[in-house]
Parts: sequence; C-alpha cells; structure tokens
Amino acid sequence: MFTKLILKDMDVRGKRVLCRVDFNVPLNSDGDVADDTRIVGALDTIRDIAERGGRLILASHLGRPKGCPDSRYSLGPIARHLSRLLGREVAMAPDCVGPQVESLVSNMRNGDALLLENVRFHPEETDNDPGFSRRLASLADLFVNDAFGAAHRAHASTEGVARLLPAAAGLLMEREIRYLSLALSAPAPPFVAVLGGAKVSDKILVIENLLSKIDTLLVGGGMAYTFLRARGITVGKSLVEEERIYFAGELLNRAEEMGVRVLLPEDHLVAREFKADAEGWVCTNEAFPVDGMGLDIGPETARHFANVLREAGTVLWNGPMGVFEFDAFAKGTFAVAEALAGSEALSIIGGGDSVAAVNRLGLTDRMTHVSTGGGASLEFLEGKDLPGIAALSDRA
Ligand code: ADP
Ligand code: MG
Repeated sequence: MFTKLILKDMDVRGKRVLCRVDFNVPLNSDGDVADDTRIVGALDTIRDIAERGGRLILASHLGRPKGCPDSRYSLGPIARHLSRLLGREVAMAPDCVGPQVESLVSNMRNGDALLLENVRFHPEETDNDPGFSRRLASLADLFVNDAFGAAHRAHASTEGVARLLPAAAGLLMEREIRYLSLALSAPAPPFVAVLGGAKVSDKILVIENLLSKIDTLLVGGGMAYTFLRARGITVGKSLVEEERIYFAGELLNRAEEMGVRVLLPEDHLVAREFKADAEGWVCTNEAFPVDGMGLDIGPETARHFANVLREAGTVLWNGPMGVFEFDAFAKGTFAVAEALAGSEALSIIGGGDSVAAVNRLGLTDRMTHVSTGGGASLEFLEGKDLPGIAALSDRA
C-alpha cells in the first residue's frame, strides 16, 4: 500500500537531515506557545532521527508573514518550547538559508538539532521557487517531510526540496497517510461517514469521493439544513445554501440508487438567535418553527446516530453536528464523539473543528486516528494527490 520512502528506510547516522515539520502553532499574547499539539505530534520523528545520530535541521512556517522577516512570526518561542519538551537544547538559526545557517549546520554533531527560522520570511517559499528549493536542499543530505498539515501546498520546503534530495515520509506523515488511505481503500464494513460542519459547499468533493465507498452517511451540522430543504422540509432561519439545494437533492437520489443509506436529522435544538446564551428548544422536522434556526441535532437524532456508530466497522467523521463552540449547542457533537470513543469501530477524525471538539472532550486517545491536518485531510479525503506526498521518493 505504501509506495513512498519512509523514515525507517533511511540510514540517517551522521547525515544532515532536513525535516519539514508543521510548527504552525497558535501563540498567546506573550508570544508563547498556546497549544503545542502540532509540536508534540512531530516528537516521534524528531527523537528517532536524533537518537539514530542524524543531524536534525528542522524547518517550518508560522502564520502568514508577508514574505519578509517579521518578529511576530519568529520560530524563536518554538525552539524554546521544543527544547523544554525534549529536555535538551535546540539551537535557533537566524534564517532558513544563507551563509550563517550554513556555518551553523557545518558545526553540528550527530544527534544535534537546529531549528531554522520561518521559511515564509522568503517569498520564494510559497512561490515554490526552484532556486530557493536548491538553497534549502544544499543544507542537507536527506529530506524528511513530517508536515502533513502543509502537504496540500506545493511550496519550496514541502514539494520543491523533496524533488532534490532522497525524500521520506516522517512517522506522523506516515501515520496520517496510512489511516486516511485505509479509510478510502480498505475500510472494514459497515463503513459509516459522519459529515457535518457549516456548509455543504465545503464538503461537496468529499461527499462525491466517499459515496461509492460508504454504506451509511450521517449528515448533521449546518449542512444538514440544505439536505432537509432538498427533501421538502422547511427549516426556518437555519443556515441553508439555496444554490446547493438542487445538488443536495441529486446527491440523495444518487445515494439511493447506489444503496447508500443516508440519515438526516429528524429533530433539532433550535434557537431564535445565533448566540451562546440563546434559549434553545427541541423540535421535530414536522414542527420546525419559522423563526427558529437549528444550531444542533436533537436528542432523538443523536441517539439514532450513536446507535449506527456503535454497529460500524469503520467511521470517518468530518464536521461537528452543531455549533459546538456554544456549550448549549454542543450536545450532538459530543454524543457522536462519545459513541465513537466507545465503539469498536476504526475511527478516523479529520477537519480542524471536529478534531478540536474531540480534544476538548479529552477523547483523542480513544479514537483510532485523529488527523493533524485540517485542510490537508479534507483534500486527501477528496481523493486528491497532495503535492507534499507526491513529491516524496518512491520506495525501491
Ligand atoms: P471541520 O473544521 O471539522 O471540517 P467545518 O469547518 O466544516 O468543520 O465546520 C465547523 C463549523 O460549523 C463550526 O464553526 C460550527 O459552529 C459550524 N456549525 C455546525 N453546525 C452548525 C449549524 N447548525 N449552524 C451554523 N453553523 C454550524
Ligand atoms: Mg473548520
């Protein structure tokens, strides 16, 4: 199944290993790391290379600087945080290319780690400029990509450089590819997809790609209202994409022809306003109030969905069941997360907000795989080739 070179295939001892990681983490107002999930996600790869005597040169982007140095987006705080996590010094480079960096690299010993400054301080990074890729590649003997979250971008440090050096998937990248492709290629039946989130339009390609593979589709969240409208149900002031109602109807027809069971919400938690402290009440499809907006799936739907999930062999979940950022409207999302955590099914969670919901509940460890790549996991599930993966060396 795995056609790309992986870290295990590489003999890193004494080699300079350029490792692209996703250290694009949120910083707090003091400029310190506010959430280190992504840094922690890269630790296995970092430790493996260092312990095997590689000379580890870490590269990442952070935020969206305008192609020039900007202290707000310096990776300095991340070098400090990483040093604490590893219990050893990670040196910080003043730039990601150039003579100063070259001299730092030439002084490295086996097992040392150096963090390069933000690759997006150079406009050539996002332009995937070949000259810039060559300058990055000249620092190292080997390339390892562990930045799954950036794999959908063809940038110099993700794609360009991978074409210039022996290039392998890091441990996190390998795990992401393994589980996401398992869901797409060999899911244990019954295969259930749970789709939610704000809009149908964000997920059209995912639904299209999954339809021929799944047995059951559970639809919740804001996107459910466009589907309900396609079935002729009025949904008051709920989020509806009028221009997608036709598509949603076509999709329901196609699912039926293909023998895919589709469950839409049958009841809802509605409110008059989109507010955290809005008063919510439960209504059924038949009695949807004209002045109400659906902000969560209702208890009957949540129970029904949970039952389906408990019987599933494989579950792919993308998109919350309601406005889970508001505590009062998080029950449906939490019910799905808990059902998944308690089920024997292989559970794969993709999408930034769904993952945030699972993290908030502390259920991450009880899922089979929680993806670290929001946009990247979505594109993977759409069936696209991600440039950062495609550019890795093929396994001999
Ligand atoms: P993910 O990041 O997991 O792919 P999305 O970004 O597609 O998920 O959707 C997440 C957003 O959808 C959340 O901000 C949530 O508040 C919103 N949402 C969910 N249900 C509704 C709803 N019924 N009405 C409006 N917004 C909703
Ligand atoms: Mg999102």
